[in-house]
Amino acid sequence: MKFSVVVPCYNEEDNVELFFSTAVSELSSIIDDTEFIFVNDGSTDKTFERLKELCQNTKYCVKTINFSRNFGKEAGLLAGLTEANGEYVAIIDADLQQRPKYILDMYEILCKNKEYDAVAAYQDIRKEGKILTFFKDTFYGLINKMSEIDLMRSASDFRLLKRCVVDAIISLPEKCRFSKGIFSWVGFNTFYMPYTVEERASGTSKWSFWKLFSYAVDGIVAFSVKPLLMASVAGIILFILALIMMIYTIIKTVCFGEAVAGYPTIVSLILLLSGVQLLCMGILGQYIAKNYTETKNRPVYVIKEKISSKEK
Ligand code: UDP
Ligand code: MG
Repeated sequence: MKFSVVVPCYNEEDNVELFFSTAVSELSSIIDDTEFIFVNDGSTDKTFERLKELCQNTKYCVKTINFSRNFGKEAGLLAGLTEANGEYVAIIDADLQQRPKYILDMYEILCKNKEYDAVAAYQDIRKEGKILTFFKDTFYGLINKMSEIDLMRSASDFRLLKRCVVDAIISLPEKCRFSKGIFSWVGFNTFYMPYTVEERASGTSKWSFWKLFSYAVDGIVAFSVKPLLMASVAGIILFILALIMMIYTIIKTVCFGEAVAGYPTIVSLILLLSGVQLLCMGILGQYIAKNYTETKNRPVYVIKEKISSKEK
């Protein structure tokens, strides 16, 4: 197969068939050379049944990987990329927010510009609230400053990758996978293509604010150790401040005989310092937790079954 299309699906029962029929019509020029890999990420609705029917009723090459439970989109992407045989591998969501027709544009870009190994789509117009945009901007600013990787602000996971890029991505053994960082870390030349994001065909986004926040923390911890350095620097600064204050108090009491009115100062200092200490412990804890997860060496996902339209 020349093309593989990887589609992670979690509770997309109303979208998978629509997605597939849209993809078949929009990708008609390459459809005979394309395999579809749907990853059912432990959906609790009828997504798997729909995918099974799809595999049974189609004349095209469709594979479905069924996870034993929900492992998250990152795990779905890894499973799909590992299963893909294509020379070019596309990653696309199942909810039709990303139109499959853009894959043809991405392919054209790669054909015309041999120096590029991947095309990543980015949203030219963002359809999200101002507060979310502010937090996302802060996250991208932080991670780009703190780490060796460079993430493009609005780039999505909607991509077309050449085989060399896919091989590099699946060769990374880490368990805590932050795909946006991994795409950047493996290097290669990426072309950023603007696209217009559509409304979800059906259902709601699986990303709440807290899920996004924890995803952002995972990303920073996975690609930078600077927060640890910052914790140490904060410790040093506080130590120096405490020393200055001590000397100041001693001089004030010994030389000028002034009694120190200490209670409010002590309470504020205790609160401040214990806050800083907890923050630093939290930062340290994040790294220990990630280390713990990595050393357990559990697989990123567990496959319950695989179905393929070609086995009919
Ligand atoms: N997804 C998944 N596992 C999850 C959450 C999401 O496979 O645990 C899939 C989902 O079915 C969709 C894609 O990842 O195809 C993007 O998810 P969603 O549309 O919720 O994210 P958004 O578009 O809001 O960023
Ligand atoms: Mg979506």
